[in-house]
Amino acid sequence: MAHHRSLGRGLAASVALSALLLNVSCSVNPATGQQQLAFYNEEEEIQLGRESDEEIVASVGLYDDPELQAYVEGLGKKLAAESERPNLPWSFKVLDDPAVNAFALPGGYIYVTRGLLTHMGSEAELSGVIGHEIGHVTARHGVNQASKQMLAMLGVGLISVLDEDLGTVAGVASLGLGLLFLKYSRDDERQADDLGLRYMTRSGFDPREMPGVFTVLQGVAEVEGGGRLPGWLSTHPDPGARHDRIQKEVAALPGDFTTATVNRDGYLRRLDGLVFGENPREGYFEGNAFLHPDLRFRVDFPEGWETSNEKASVSATAPGEDALVQVSLTQAGTPEEAADEFFNEEGLSQGDRWSKGIHGLPASWNRFDYRDEDSALSGTVAFVRHNGQVYQLLAVASEEAWDRQQRDLERALSSFSRLEDPKALNVQPRHLRLVQLPGEMTLQGFQEKHPSDIPMQLLALINGARPEDRLPAGTLVKRVTGAR
Ligand SMILES: [Zn+2]
Repeated sequence: MAHHRSLGRGLAASVALSALLLNVSCSVNPATGQQQLAFYNEEEEIQLGRESDEEIVASVGLYDDPELQAYVEGLGKKLAAESERPNLPWSFKVLDDPAVNAFALPGGYIYVTRGLLTHMGSEAELSGVIGHEIGHVTARHGVNQASKQMLAMLGVGLISVLDEDLGTVAGVASLGLGLLFLKYSRDDERQADDLGLRYMTRSGFDPREMPGVFTVLQGVAEVEGGGRLPGWLSTHPDPGARHDRIQKEVAALPGDFTTATVNRDGYLRRLDGLVFGENPREGYFEGNAFLHPDLRFRVDFPEGWETSNEKASVSATAPGEDALVQVSLTQAGTPEEAADEFFNEEGLSQGDRWSKGIHGLPASWNRFDYRDEDSALSGTVAFVRHNGQVYQLLAVASEEAWDRQQRDLERALSSFSRLEDPKALNVQPRHLRLVQLPGEMTLQGFQEKHPSDIPMQLLALINGARPEDRLPAGTLVKRVTGAR
């Protein structure tokens, strides 16, 4: 967590989007040649993407490596220039997220995660993924989905003034975040695969690399097992079938691709030093305790609650989803200023206010109630100063649950404290390293000589090789090393 998100932004976005609904048009899409009913013209489409882009950058965060960002931006622009919509304000960003994921927003906003980059094996493979996302934009899949989704939301009255965090409690969702979870149809996915293949081939990349992307995605699903599927897979189902279909398409392409670009080594060398997996510097859980080495604080959440660490906040939700504790950073200079800003929100009424330090840190406390058409919530919020910044510690429950949950909620707020354990303060993420093989070696032999901090199955996956495969001398091999 690093940033603060205002409560009111959801409402502003909802009003803006409702206004856009008045504008419905039908046109022929240049990438697909199909007639399309669109709720947005191009300018509105760009605006829709831009608003969500700000949300994504604030809530997920960019990976802090200007050189890598410039590389992905350059590659993306090269591919987009070969598309049917070269004049969109295309942007390509690397998100600081360990999940293997890529997605696109209307208007040309495209994201790949650092997790995806560590799993790709060549520039051509990455081009296939980015090309696929460009395809969603040129075919305006997101615009269509957003239009449908917005209609559905308006129909059942889900638009709310609450942001998505309080929204969990009130059982509502915001459209801004909903864009992230757009489900495309199978037809849309096939079309994006075909368009991606088209753009990478036109840009001089070897289309024969594209099926390998689906092999990796299949492998990710297998390594993750029954656990949480990464975003790409939950929104892009069935990589096996996509592999077979795209392989047939590639085989049918006219021309000879023996001189087309793959760029395996050049791509891999760019990955040297990349953070691999979760980054504990941005906070990690030890049981129900949350430790944040960079921000130097600790908070203990109630036992058995569902916890979640986002860029903008860390939170825990009660098993019945009727109560929430959330810690976030404000932009305010003092606890009092933060409280004033908090109570600016419509629907919030202020109750008792008192001052009481938390583990020696100055803090201002307030009880509050929140009312709107759909929800009635009660809560306590504390603003505490720590390391020159003001934190918002929020405890909120539905009105019915408040009496039952108040004790656990306020105990969690009071647990906020300075992190002083040197072991926690010095924790480091794992990094990806590249090793050039001096002689022929199996991946198994490589693991014995240059041990990695990850299981063999995952090492095999990120290297696109099986443990027993003989890798020739000179091959660049990925390994993952832990904290020093
Ligand atoms: Zn897709």
